[in-house]
This record gives sequence, structure tokens and C-alpha cells, in this order.
Amino acid sequence: MDLGLQGKKAIICAASKGLGRACALALAREGVDVVITARNADVLHRTAEEIRAETGATVIPVVGDITTEEGRTAALAACPNPDILVNNAGGPPPGDFRNWSQEDWIRALNANMLTAIFMIRAVIDGMCARRFGRIVNITSAAVKSPIAVLGLSNGARTGLTGFVAGLAREVAQYNVTINNLLPGPFMTDRLRATAVAEAAKHGRSVEEELNLRAQSNPTRRVGDPAEFGAACAFLCAASSGFIVGQNLLLDGGAFNSTF
Ligand code: NAD
Repeated sequence: MDLGLQGKKAIICAASKGLGRACALALAREGVDVVITARNADVLHRTAEEIRAETGATVIPVVGDITTEEGRTAALAACPNPDILVNNAGGPPPGDFRNWSQEDWIRALNANMLTAIFMIRAVIDGMCARRFGRIVNITSAAVKSPIAVLGLSNGARTGLTGFVAGLAREVAQYNVTINNLLPGPFMTDRLRATAVAEAAKHGRSVEEELNLRAQSNPTRRVGDPAEFGAACAFLCAASSGFIVGQNLLLDGGAFNSTF
């Protein structure tokens, strides 16, 4: 399937590893020139080289923290008029809400709600004027099915989801779409880190912990980031202009519902 994205330009935030990297790779395979950001220069440059080597696309790495004004300015300077924006940032830590300070909440809201909104604000008018734009926010399955220990994530990401639900309907008339991708368990460093912590808590090996997670999913496995990237590229396709304001859950069917 030709997604009609040859020659388009994208910013993919927080993309040296994991789901962001997978989105960048999938878009680059479709002929999109990508700007990728992350805080760690070495990992980011290595990822840029790998994507370039595999796809032949132009890949510009921009080192910086996307949750800061400087980080966003640097990303936008490298690609002031993107056709595609994929919003992503690291998730907040788990914990008990009784221990979270105002500062903890503000950090989570900044990373997982406001950063995406500020990136959208910077690019959306240009997208509307050019009559093409695809914005994908990486949120979490926890938006639909909360995970109590991830209260900071549940709260911040749901705030973003509520905000973009309104904006998506305003800009759809200009062939600009905003949709959210909700990952369930995908095999990334983030998942491995949570598995290490859970394994230690329950006296299991990390392998056992990962296996338990896989077995509890209807697919009997966890997701492959490449599957996530493919879904992102599909939402960005030229032919996806009628997919507006949706929350696409990629969780192997873990959320149990009829529709
Ligand atoms: P990951 O740890 O594998 O990769 C995160 C990437 O983001 C890395 O490239 C890292 O360098 C970059 N990054 C993190 N914070 C950044 C910042 N402030 N500025 C710039 N770059 C930054 O994580 P992942 O599994 O790919 O997760 C991506 C998002 O999806 C996270 O918000 C995570 O909470 C969420 N999520 C992941 C899963 C999963 O199973 N993997 C499930 C639900 C939600």
C-alpha cells in the first residue's frame, strides 16, 4: 500500500529508542524525511545512522529535552514546517498519589500533556494553510483502562486526550488530523525496566516476569515496536484524512470489550 507520504517532512519527538524510534523508521520507509529528538546524543546519532542506512531517508537528529522550551525550539528549527508531528516523551514514574508533590504533578503534566500541546501549537497553523497535516500523539492504554500506580500518567495523558478531542474537530476541515495511539505492552526499554522492578518485587526472574505478561495477553506475547510504527504510518497516510480525533488502542486485545 502506498501511503502517499514520499517527500513529506516529519518531527518525531523522543525517538532514539522504543516506540518513537519505530514511528520514525516506519515513516522513513515511506520516503518521509524525519527529524528525531532525544536527550542522549550517542544513542540518538546511532539511531539516526541506522534509519538512514536502512531507508535512505534524510534523518536529522536533534539532541535535547523535548519537555523544555529549548528542546522544542531546537526540534522546530530543524523542521519549521513539518507535514507530520509525532508527539512522545518518557512516561512519569509509578507511585502512590499521597506522596506526589505539586512539583511531581507539574512535571508529569508538562511532559505528557503540555509539551504535546505546545508542539501542536507551533505547527498547526502552517499545516492548515498547506491543507495537509498529520499529528499523532503517543499516549497509553492507561488512558482507557487506568493503572493505579501510574496515576501521574493516567491524569496527564487523559488531559491531553480531552484537549485534542476538541481541536481535532476544528482543524479536520483543512485536511489536518490529530489522533492518539494508545500502546499496551510493547517490548521496549521502558517495558523491560518495569519488568525488572516487578520481578524484584515478586521474587521472580525478569524472564518469568516478561513471560507472565505475555501469557496474560490474548496474543500470548507483547507487542513488537515495528507494529506500533506501522500503525503510526497508517494514521499519517495521505488517505487517512477521514480518521479524526480517534484513540487507537494497540494492546493485543488486552482491554476486554465488545467494541
Ligand atoms: P523507551 O524508554 O523505550 O524510549 C523512550 C524514548 O524517549 C527514548 O528515545 C528516550 O531517549 C526518549 N525520551 C524520553 N524522554 C525524553 C525527553 N524528555 N526528551 C526527549 N527524548 C526523550 O520508551 P517507550 O516504551 O518507547 O515509551 C514511549 C512512551 O509510550 C512513553 O511515554 C511510555 O510511558 C509510553 N508507553 C509505553 C508502553 C510500552 O509498553 N512500551 C506502554 C504504555 C505507554
